[in-house]
Amino acid sequence: MNSSPLEPAGPRPFVGLHLKCCNVYVRAYRNAAGDAFTAWCPRCSAPVRVNITQDGTGTSNRFFEAS
Ligand SMILES: [Zn+2]
Repeated sequence: MNSSPLEPAGPRPFVGLHLKCCNVYVRAYRNAAGDAFTAWCPRCSAPVRVNITQDGTGTSNRFFEAS
């Protein structure tokens, strides 16, 4: 069998982000380094970064606000 080359089973972790700049809600996915969640505002393209302070927590339902 040669079934799972790279991707681990399971969903990619993300958090919900409320962007105050345009009052929109987006999902921020964990970056490749695994040290932050990153996203971009769909309206004004402002970059958003939420640092992951606790490693290995695995919490999938967190909400942040970014201005
Ligand atoms: Zn915006």
